[in-house]
Amino acid sequence: MLAKIKTLAKDIFPQLQAMRHHLHQHPELSFQEHQTMAFVAEKLRSWGIAFRAPVAGTGVVGIIEGKDPGSRIVALRADMDALPIQEANQVPYASQHPGVMHACGHDVHTTCLLGAAYILQQLREEWHGTVKLIFQPGEEKHPGGASLMIRDGALENPRPSCIIGMHVHPELPVGYLGFRTGISMASADEIYITIKGKGGHAASPHLTTDTILAASQVVVALQQVISRNKNPFSPSVLSICAFNGGYTTNVIPTEVKLLGTFRAMDETWRFQAHERIRQTIYHVAEAMGAEAEVEIPVGYPCLINDEQVTHAARALAEQYLDAEHVKDVDPRMGAEDFAFYSQVIPACFFRLGVASPGKGEGPTVHTPQFDIDEQALEIGAGIMAWLGARVTR
Ligand SMILES: [Zn+2]
Ligand SMILES: [Zn+2]
Repeated sequence: MLAKIKTLAKDIFPQLQAMRHHLHQHPELSFQEHQTMAFVAEKLRSWGIAFRAPVAGTGVVGIIEGKDPGSRIVALRADMDALPIQEANQVPYASQHPGVMHACGHDVHTTCLLGAAYILQQLREEWHGTVKLIFQPGEEKHPGGASLMIRDGALENPRPSCIIGMHVHPELPVGYLGFRTGISMASADEIYITIKGKGGHAASPHLTTDTILAASQVVVALQQVISRNKNPFSPSVLSICAFNGGYTTNVIPTEVKLLGTFRAMDETWRFQAHERIRQTIYHVAEAMGAEAEVEIPVGYPCLINDEQVTHAARALAEQYLDAEHVKDVDPRMGAEDFAFYSQVIPACFFRLGVASPGKGEGPTVHTPQFDIDEQALEIGAGIMAWLGARVTR
Protein backbone atom coordinates (compact mmCIF):
# COMPACT_ATOMS: atom_id res chain seq x y z
CA MET A 1 0.00 0.00 0.00
CA LEU A 2 2.75 2.45 0.98
CA ALA A 3 4.71 1.67 -2.17
CA LYS A 4 1.60 1.97 -4.33
CA ILE A 5 0.79 5.40 -2.89
CA LYS A 6 4.35 6.58 -3.49
CA THR A 7 4.28 5.33 -7.07
CA LEU A 8 0.92 6.97 -7.78
CA ALA A 9 2.05 10.26 -6.20
CA LYS A 10 5.12 10.20 -8.45
CA ASP A 11 3.07 9.29 -11.53
CA ILE A 12 0.61 12.16 -11.05
CA PHE A 13 3.30 14.76 -10.32
CA PRO A 14 2.76 16.52 -13.70
CA GLN A 15 -1.00 16.70 -12.99
CA LEU A 16 -0.35 18.02 -9.48
CA GLN A 17 1.90 20.71 -10.93
CA ALA A 18 -0.74 21.61 -13.54
CA MET A 19 -3.47 21.85 -10.87
CA ARG A 20 -1.30 24.00 -8.63
CA HIS A 21 -0.37 26.29 -11.53
CA HIS A 22 -4.04 26.71 -12.46
CA LEU A 23 -5.03 27.53 -8.87
CA HIS A 24 -2.03 29.82 -8.41
CA GLN A 25 -2.91 31.73 -11.60
CA HIS A 26 -6.54 32.13 -10.51
CA PRO A 27 -6.46 33.04 -6.82
CA GLU A 28 -9.68 34.14 -5.11
CA LEU A 29 -10.12 36.09 -1.89
CA SER A 30 -11.71 34.62 1.25
CA PHE A 31 -15.36 33.59 0.80
CA GLN A 32 -15.18 34.37 -2.93
CA GLU A 33 -13.69 31.02 -3.97
CA HIS A 34 -16.36 30.32 -6.64
CA GLN A 35 -14.04 29.25 -9.46
CA THR A 36 -11.86 27.30 -7.05
CA MET A 37 -14.92 25.45 -5.73
CA ALA A 38 -15.99 24.66 -9.31
CA PHE A 39 -12.46 23.44 -10.11
CA VAL A 40 -12.39 21.12 -7.08
CA ALA A 41 -15.92 19.85 -7.79
CA GLU A 42 -15.07 19.15 -11.43
CA LYS A 43 -11.95 17.14 -10.47
CA LEU A 44 -13.86 15.07 -7.91
CA ARG A 45 -16.68 14.46 -10.40
CA SER A 46 -14.23 13.36 -13.10
CA TRP A 47 -12.70 10.82 -10.70
CA GLY A 48 -16.09 9.47 -9.61
CA ILE A 49 -15.84 10.82 -6.06
CA ALA A 50 -19.11 11.76 -4.34
CA PHE A 51 -19.29 15.29 -2.92
CA ARG A 52 -21.56 18.00 -1.57
CA ALA A 53 -21.19 21.64 -2.71
CA PRO A 54 -21.56 24.43 -1.94
CA VAL A 55 -21.04 24.03 1.80
CA ALA A 56 -20.57 27.29 3.74
CA GLY A 57 -20.92 29.27 0.51
CA THR A 58 -17.90 28.09 -1.44
CA GLY A 59 -16.76 24.88 0.30
CA VAL A 60 -16.81 21.27 -0.87
CA VAL A 61 -17.15 18.07 1.20
CA GLY A 62 -16.20 14.84 -0.57
CA ILE A 63 -16.51 11.24 0.56
CA ILE A 64 -14.40 8.25 -0.47
CA GLU A 65 -15.30 4.82 0.85
CA GLY A 66 -12.72 2.08 1.09
CA LYS A 67 -13.47 -1.47 2.22
CA ASP A 68 -15.76 -1.79 5.24
CA PRO A 69 -16.62 1.96 5.18
CA GLY A 70 -17.97 2.08 8.74
CA SER A 71 -14.81 0.67 10.32
CA ARG A 72 -13.04 4.04 10.59
CA ILE A 73 -13.89 7.55 9.44
CA VAL A 74 -11.28 10.28 9.15
CA ALA A 75 -11.33 13.78 7.67
CA LEU A 76 -8.62 15.47 5.59
CA ARG A 77 -8.83 19.24 5.26
CA ALA A 78 -7.51 21.87 2.83
CA ASP A 79 -8.16 25.62 2.72
CA MET A 80 -8.65 27.33 -0.65
CA ASP A 81 -8.49 31.12 -0.25
CA ALA A 82 -5.84 33.62 -1.35
CA LEU A 83 -4.65 36.96 0.06
CA PRO A 84 -4.95 40.61 -1.05
CA ILE A 85 -1.26 40.79 -2.08
CA GLN A 86 0.23 41.70 -5.47
CA GLU A 87 2.49 38.84 -6.54
CA ALA A 88 6.11 39.84 -7.23
CA ASN A 89 7.29 36.50 -8.62
CA GLN A 90 8.20 36.44 -12.33
CA VAL A 91 7.08 32.89 -13.04
CA PRO A 92 4.93 31.52 -15.88
CA TYR A 93 2.24 30.53 -13.38
CA ALA A 94 2.13 33.92 -11.57
CA SER A 95 -1.26 35.22 -10.43
CA GLN A 96 -3.42 36.58 -13.23
CA HIS A 97 -5.68 38.40 -10.77
CA PRO A 98 -4.23 41.85 -9.94
CA GLY A 99 -3.75 42.37 -6.21
CA VAL A 100 -4.67 38.78 -5.29
CA MET A 101 -2.13 36.03 -4.63
CA HIS A 102 -1.85 32.57 -3.14
CA ALA A 103 0.78 33.83 -0.70
CA CYS A 104 -0.08 31.38 2.10
CA GLY A 105 0.16 28.20 0.01
CA HIS A 106 -3.53 27.35 0.10
CA ASP A 107 -3.23 26.49 -3.62
CA VAL A 108 -0.70 23.86 -2.50
CA HIS A 109 -3.03 22.51 0.21
CA THR A 110 -5.93 22.25 -2.25
CA THR A 111 -3.74 20.55 -4.88
CA CYS A 112 -2.33 18.05 -2.38
CA LEU A 113 -5.78 17.13 -1.07
CA LEU A 114 -7.03 16.68 -4.64
CA GLY A 115 -4.01 14.47 -5.34
CA ALA A 116 -4.65 12.46 -2.17
CA ALA A 117 -8.32 12.07 -3.17
CA TYR A 118 -7.31 10.72 -6.58
CA ILE A 119 -4.86 8.25 -5.01
CA LEU A 120 -7.33 7.05 -2.36
CA GLN A 121 -10.02 6.60 -5.00
CA GLN A 122 -7.67 4.57 -7.23
CA LEU A 123 -6.65 2.34 -4.31
CA ARG A 124 -10.04 2.12 -2.58
CA GLU A 125 -9.95 -1.71 -2.61
CA GLU A 126 -6.78 -1.58 -0.51
CA TRP A 127 -7.68 0.42 2.56
CA HIS A 128 -10.42 0.30 5.18
CA GLY A 129 -12.90 2.95 6.23
CA THR A 130 -14.17 6.27 4.94
CA VAL A 131 -12.22 9.43 4.15
CA LYS A 132 -14.01 12.74 4.26
CA LEU A 133 -12.44 15.49 2.13
CA ILE A 134 -13.00 18.99 3.47
CA PHE A 135 -12.17 21.84 1.08
CA GLN A 136 -12.99 24.99 3.01
CA PRO A 137 -13.23 28.69 2.16
CA GLY A 138 -12.03 31.73 4.08
CA GLU A 139 -9.16 30.61 6.30
CA GLU A 140 -7.65 34.09 6.18
CA LYS A 141 -10.71 36.07 7.20
CA HIS A 142 -12.93 36.47 10.23
CA PRO A 143 -14.94 34.46 11.26
CA GLY A 144 -12.92 31.69 9.57
CA GLY A 145 -14.32 29.30 6.97
CA ALA A 146 -13.71 26.35 9.29
CA SER A 147 -16.31 27.64 11.76
CA LEU A 148 -18.85 27.93 8.92
CA MET A 149 -18.04 24.44 7.58
CA ILE A 150 -18.68 23.04 11.07
CA ARG A 151 -21.92 25.06 11.33
CA ASP A 152 -23.02 23.64 7.97
CA GLY A 153 -22.41 20.06 9.03
CA ALA A 154 -19.01 19.20 7.52
CA LEU A 155 -18.16 17.13 10.61
CA GLU A 156 -21.52 15.30 10.72
CA ASN A 157 -23.09 12.43 8.75
CA PRO A 158 -20.76 10.70 9.06
CA ARG A 159 -18.80 12.17 11.95
CA PRO A 160 -15.04 11.56 11.60
CA SER A 161 -13.11 10.29 14.63
CA CYS A 162 -10.27 12.70 13.79
CA ILE A 163 -9.20 15.36 11.30
CA ILE A 164 -5.85 16.03 9.64
CA GLY A 165 -4.66 19.35 8.20
CA MET A 166 -1.38 20.34 6.56
CA HIS A 167 0.33 23.71 6.02
CA VAL A 168 3.27 24.71 3.85
CA HIS A 169 6.34 25.52 5.96
CA PRO A 170 9.12 27.58 4.33
CA GLU A 171 11.37 26.94 7.34
CA LEU A 172 11.71 23.26 6.38
CA PRO A 173 13.28 22.01 3.13
CA VAL A 174 11.18 19.95 0.75
CA GLY A 175 11.30 16.29 1.81
CA TYR A 176 10.68 17.10 5.48
CA LEU A 177 7.53 17.16 7.59
CA GLY A 178 7.06 18.90 10.96
CA PHE A 179 4.87 17.77 13.86
CA ARG A 180 3.98 19.06 17.29
CA THR A 181 1.73 17.62 20.01
CA GLY A 182 -0.54 19.71 22.22
CA ILE A 183 -0.98 23.44 22.03
CA SER A 184 0.55 24.49 18.73
CA MET A 185 -0.87 27.82 17.61
CA ALA A 186 -2.32 30.79 19.43
CA SER A 187 -5.81 32.19 19.60
CA ALA A 188 -6.13 35.54 17.84
CA ASP A 189 -8.62 38.28 18.68
CA GLU A 190 -8.71 41.72 17.13
CA ILE A 191 -8.98 44.81 19.33
CA TYR A 192 -10.76 47.99 18.21
CA ILE A 193 -10.49 51.00 20.53
CA THR A 194 -11.91 54.52 20.16
CA ILE A 195 -10.83 57.21 22.63
CA LYS A 196 -13.19 60.18 22.59
CA GLY A 197 -13.05 63.55 24.26
CA LYS A 198 -13.49 67.27 23.81
CA GLY A 199 -10.65 68.35 21.57
CA GLY A 200 -9.75 71.94 20.93
CA HIS A 201 -6.97 74.48 20.58
CA ALA A 202 -3.56 73.03 21.36
CA ALA A 203 -2.63 76.28 23.13
CA SER A 204 -5.37 75.74 25.73
CA PRO A 205 -5.06 72.12 26.81
CA HIS A 206 -6.80 72.93 30.11
CA LEU A 207 -9.99 73.60 28.14
CA THR A 208 -9.86 70.29 26.24
CA THR A 209 -9.67 66.58 26.83
CA ASP A 210 -6.42 65.48 25.25
CA THR A 211 -7.39 62.30 23.38
CA ILE A 212 -3.85 61.85 22.03
CA LEU A 213 -2.39 61.74 25.54
CA ALA A 214 -5.22 59.54 26.82
CA ALA A 215 -4.74 57.07 23.95
CA SER A 216 -0.98 57.07 24.61
CA GLN A 217 -1.61 56.19 28.26
CA VAL A 218 -3.96 53.41 27.15
CA VAL A 219 -1.27 51.92 24.88
CA VAL A 220 1.28 51.93 27.70
CA ALA A 221 -1.15 50.63 30.33
CA LEU A 222 -2.25 47.74 28.12
CA GLN A 223 1.27 46.30 28.19
CA GLN A 224 0.73 45.63 31.88
CA VAL A 225 -2.01 43.13 31.05
CA ILE A 226 0.74 40.92 29.64
CA SER A 227 3.54 41.77 32.09
CA ARG A 228 1.47 41.88 35.34
CA ASN A 229 -1.78 39.91 34.91
CA LYS A 230 -0.63 36.94 32.83
CA ASN A 231 0.93 33.79 34.24
CA PRO A 232 4.58 34.04 33.10
CA PHE A 233 4.46 30.39 31.99
CA SER A 234 1.71 31.06 29.47
CA PRO A 235 2.76 32.71 26.17
CA SER A 236 0.61 35.66 25.15
CA VAL A 237 1.03 38.75 22.97
CA LEU A 238 -0.78 42.08 22.85
CA SER A 239 0.27 44.44 20.06
CA ILE A 240 -1.29 47.79 19.28
CA CYS A 241 -0.53 48.23 15.60
CA ALA A 242 -2.41 51.35 14.54
CA PHE A 243 -2.69 54.74 16.30
CA ASN A 244 -4.85 57.09 14.27
CA GLY A 245 -5.88 60.58 15.36
CA GLY A 246 -5.25 64.22 14.64
CA TYR A 247 -4.14 65.95 11.45
CA THR A 248 -2.24 69.13 12.24
CA THR A 249 0.11 70.83 14.71
CA ASN A 250 -2.30 72.89 16.75
CA VAL A 251 -5.59 71.01 17.09
CA ILE A 252 -6.22 68.38 19.73
CA PRO A 253 -8.51 65.86 18.01
CA THR A 254 -11.85 64.71 19.42
CA GLU A 255 -11.17 61.09 18.59
CA VAL A 256 -8.27 58.64 18.37
CA LYS A 257 -8.64 55.12 17.03
CA LEU A 258 -6.33 52.27 18.07
CA LEU A 259 -6.18 48.83 16.43
CA GLY A 260 -4.43 45.79 17.78
CA THR A 261 -4.26 42.04 18.19
CA PHE A 262 -4.33 39.81 21.24
CA ARG A 263 -2.96 36.25 21.16
CA ALA A 264 -2.93 33.55 23.80
CA MET A 265 -2.24 29.87 24.28
CA ASP A 266 -4.75 29.24 27.05
CA GLU A 267 -8.48 29.60 26.47
CA THR A 268 -9.24 30.49 30.11
CA TRP A 269 -6.63 33.24 30.24
CA ARG A 270 -7.76 34.41 26.81
CA PHE A 271 -11.19 35.44 28.05
CA GLN A 272 -9.92 36.71 31.41
CA ALA A 273 -7.55 38.92 29.41
CA HIS A 274 -10.36 40.32 27.27
CA GLU A 275 -11.98 41.60 30.45
CA ARG A 276 -8.69 43.01 31.81
CA ILE A 277 -8.09 44.75 28.46
CA ARG A 278 -11.56 46.32 28.50
CA GLN A 279 -11.33 47.45 32.13
CA THR A 280 -7.83 48.87 31.65
CA ILE A 281 -8.95 50.91 28.64
CA TYR A 282 -12.15 52.19 30.28
CA HIS A 283 -10.47 53.21 33.51
CA VAL A 284 -7.34 54.76 32.04
CA ALA A 285 -9.47 56.77 29.62
CA GLU A 286 -11.75 57.84 32.47
CA ALA A 287 -8.78 58.92 34.60
CA MET A 288 -7.71 61.13 31.70
CA GLY A 289 -11.19 62.61 31.36
CA ALA A 290 -11.85 60.78 28.11
CA GLU A 291 -14.35 58.13 27.07
CA ALA A 292 -13.50 54.79 25.52
CA GLU A 293 -15.28 52.33 23.27
CA VAL A 294 -13.79 48.85 22.99
CA GLU A 295 -14.63 45.96 20.69
CA ILE A 296 -12.88 42.60 20.87
CA PRO A 297 -14.64 40.28 18.41
CA VAL A 298 -13.90 36.66 19.31
CA GLY A 299 -11.50 35.31 16.67
CA TYR A 300 -9.77 31.96 16.14
CA PRO A 301 -9.25 29.71 19.17
CA CYS A 302 -6.00 28.02 20.24
CA LEU A 303 -4.99 25.12 18.01
CA ILE A 304 -4.49 21.91 19.98
CA ASN A 305 -2.97 18.85 18.34
CA ASP A 306 -4.47 15.76 19.95
CA GLU A 307 -1.76 13.58 21.46
CA GLN A 308 -3.01 10.22 20.14
CA VAL A 309 -3.78 11.39 16.61
CA THR A 310 -0.55 13.34 16.35
CA HIS A 311 1.53 10.39 17.56
CA ALA A 312 -0.24 8.12 15.10
CA ALA A 313 0.19 10.58 12.22
CA ARG A 314 3.83 11.16 13.07
CA ALA A 315 4.58 7.42 13.18
CA LEU A 316 2.92 7.04 9.76
CA ALA A 317 4.96 10.00 8.45
CA GLU A 318 8.13 8.25 9.62
CA GLN A 319 7.07 5.17 7.68
CA TYR A 320 6.32 7.28 4.59
CA LEU A 321 9.62 9.18 4.68
CA ASP A 322 11.97 8.07 7.48
CA ALA A 323 12.60 9.25 11.04
CA GLU A 324 15.33 11.64 9.83
CA HIS A 325 12.88 13.59 7.70
CA VAL A 326 10.20 14.06 10.35
CA LYS A 327 10.98 16.97 12.67
CA ASP A 328 9.56 18.56 15.80
CA VAL A 329 8.32 22.09 15.17
CA ASP A 330 7.96 24.90 17.70
CA PRO A 331 4.63 26.39 18.76
CA ARG A 332 3.73 29.63 16.99
CA MET A 333 1.84 32.76 18.01
CA GLY A 334 0.23 32.79 14.57
CA ALA A 335 -3.38 31.63 14.36
CA GLU A 336 -5.15 29.23 12.02
CA ASP A 337 -8.85 28.49 11.71
CA PHE A 338 -8.14 24.72 11.66
CA ALA A 339 -8.25 25.32 15.43
CA PHE A 340 -12.07 25.33 15.23
CA TYR A 341 -12.01 21.68 14.12
CA SER A 342 -9.59 20.87 16.96
CA GLN A 343 -12.25 22.10 19.39
CA VAL A 344 -14.81 19.64 18.02
CA ILE A 345 -12.89 16.43 17.25
CA PRO A 346 -9.31 15.20 17.85
CA ALA A 347 -7.06 16.92 15.33
CA CYS A 348 -3.53 16.99 13.94
CA PHE A 349 -2.14 19.95 11.99
CA PHE A 350 1.31 19.30 10.57
CA ARG A 351 3.86 21.11 8.41
CA LEU A 352 4.99 20.39 4.86
CA GLY A 353 8.57 21.45 4.04
CA VAL A 354 8.55 23.58 0.86
CA ALA A 355 11.96 25.32 0.80
CA SER A 356 14.41 24.40 -1.95
CA PRO A 357 17.22 22.30 -0.46
CA GLY A 358 20.49 24.15 -0.05
CA LYS A 359 18.90 27.56 -0.56
CA GLY A 360 18.02 28.16 3.10
CA GLU A 361 14.61 29.32 4.21
CA GLY A 362 12.41 30.49 1.37
CA PRO A 363 10.42 33.76 1.51
CA THR A 364 7.86 33.51 4.29
CA VAL A 365 4.13 33.17 3.75
CA HIS A 366 2.10 36.38 3.33
CA THR A 367 4.87 38.06 1.28
CA PRO A 368 4.74 38.96 -2.46
CA GLN A 369 7.78 36.70 -3.02
CA PHE A 370 6.36 33.53 -1.48
CA ASP A 371 6.72 30.39 -3.60
CA ILE A 372 7.50 26.71 -3.06
CA ASP A 373 9.76 23.99 -4.39
CA GLU A 374 7.12 22.01 -6.26
CA GLN A 375 8.60 18.63 -5.35
CA ALA A 376 6.61 19.27 -2.16
CA LEU A 377 3.40 18.57 -4.11
CA GLU A 378 4.34 14.90 -4.57
CA ILE A 379 5.11 14.48 -0.87
CA GLY A 380 2.08 16.49 0.24
CA ALA A 381 -0.37 14.49 -1.87
CA GLY A 382 1.27 11.18 -0.93
CA ILE A 383 1.38 11.79 2.82
CA MET A 384 -2.23 13.02 2.89
CA ALA A 385 -3.30 9.85 1.05
CA TRP A 386 -1.24 7.65 3.40
CA LEU A 387 -2.71 9.33 6.48
CA GLY A 388 -6.20 9.12 4.98
CA ALA A 389 -5.74 5.39 4.43
CA ARG A 390 -4.21 4.58 7.79
CA VAL A 391 -4.49 7.16 10.59
CA THR A 392 -6.82 6.24 13.45
CA ARG A 393 -7.73 7.33 16.90
ZN1 LIG B 1 -2.15 32.75 5.90
ZN1 LIG C 1 -2.42 29.54 5.63
